[in-house]
Amino acid sequence: MSAPPSRGRLRAAAAILLAPLARAVGASPAAGHERFVARAFANRDRAIAAGDQAYGAVLVCDGEVVADGVSAVVTNADPMAHAEMQALRLAMARLGRRDLSGCALYGTSRACAMCESAAAAAKVSRLYHGRDAAGGQPPSAR
Ligand SMILES: [Zn+2]
Repeated sequence: MSAPPSRGRLRAAAAILLAPLARAVGASPAAGHERFVARAFANRDRAIAAGDQAYGAVLVCDGEVVADGVSAVVTNADPMAHAEMQALRLAMARLGRRDLSGCALYGTSRACAMCESAAAAAKVSRLYHGRDAAGGQPPSAR
């Protein structure tokens, strides 16, 4: 007689079996966000490699990456050069507009008050953070 599977093993098996269904119905918070999350974390790695703070971000419009954000607080000696701010600045410059309606900002960590306020001022539609793309709400000026 074998021991019943542990709760952890059951949970892992359920996650594997249910993942396609979760993706199909959009139930997973990370559904469709994987490559943007990966890109944000790649930018975090770039920041670390440059000797900066471990933060990365990416600004996405219409399903395409418009700007990478790599923390430059240390390398630029700029207290406002957070990864999210870098992505917002670069996106505005590239798109030639200050209105980023319809765009999403992905960060490796939850946006700080400065970055969230800047995203709100830029009318970014959604903020996501972390490896599981948590959040998804419009930014607020907090
Ligand atoms: Zn910030």
